[in-house]
Amino acid sequence: MDNKPDKFPEQSQSQPGKEHQMHPQPEIIQKGYRGSGKLEDKVALITGGDSGIGRSIAVHFAREGANVCIVYLEEDKDAMMTKELVEKEGRECLLIRGNLIEEKFCIEAVRHCISTFNRLDVIVNNAAKQFTKSSISEISFKQLQETFGVNIFPYFSVVKEALPHLKEGASIINTTSVTAYRGSEHLLDYASTKGAIVSFTRALSKMLAEKNIRVNGVAPGPIWTPLIPATFDSVKEFGQHTPLGRAGQPSEVAPAYVFLACRDSSYVTGQIIHVNGGELIGS
Ligand code: NAD
Ligand code: MG
Repeated sequence: MDNKPDKFPEQSQSQPGKEHQMHPQPEIIQKGYRGSGKLEDKVALITGGDSGIGRSIAVHFAREGANVCIVYLEEDKDAMMTKELVEKEGRECLLIRGNLIEEKFCIEAVRHCISTFNRLDVIVNNAAKQFTKSSISEISFKQLQETFGVNIFPYFSVVKEALPHLKEGASIINTTSVTAYRGSEHLLDYASTKGAIVSFTRALSKMLAEKNIRVNGVAPGPIWTPLIPATFDSVKEFGQHTPLGRAGQPSEVAPAYVFLACRDSSYVTGQIIHVNGGELIGS
């Protein structure tokens, strides 16, 4: 199975999780992945790009020729590592630290990216947090505001600020989740934001179709990232119940973003790609 671990040792972290504290380390790019200039000289803004799926997207995009801007909350060490990995691919990486719950910061992040690279071609809305609660009565209004404030409101703010700068052929990619489709009893508010992201993707794709700006999403299943030990009390069984019988690695998700970012998907918009180890769910 290409050395992908079936089970993980128990470990726990607080949010936001740190990739450098995980064991085993997530796989960022599969051995032998060859770039072929699919994103040559493009610029991509990736929220939550310091770690996990976002880091893997950054490294894949760089291998395909893009420069990247990484927006992250506070994980400086992980962000520096991502920057190094992007630079190893011969590309530039701008790190932008701050809290996307603030609309002002969303706007500043987009402006900083555009003033640095003078263009923006791909937006990956990907930052999120989640808190498990077993009953709706335990979900405080504060938690609700935070979950929606981080997981979906910035998707609006980032796109709103970036739109005047996006040209025909630009691509917007939103990270949703398998939980949007099958529900998750312990993540009621999180699953709701992920459902909102599906609808946001569909509606925005229609709004921007006449500009030939495509809008799609990716719905990962269980993927081994810092969010996991930072969320769940136990990680031993994580991903075991998928048809493939294991969790996925970020390296197995990011190529879907490459496809949606580049011209290979020029006739695809308003769609969600399911990268979930084989779970069959509605489209
Ligand atoms: P991750 O922890 O590596 O990435 C999430 C990132 O979001 C963090 O690095 C953090 O810097 C950023 N972030 C969180 N709150 C922020 C805030 N207030 N302001 C700015 N940045 C903030 O975990 P990941 O699993 O790679 O998560 C990426 C995306 O994948 C998320 O949207 C998540 O919901 C989604 N997802 C993950 C899984 C999984 O199993 N790991 C499954 C389905 C969907
Ligand atoms: Mg992180």
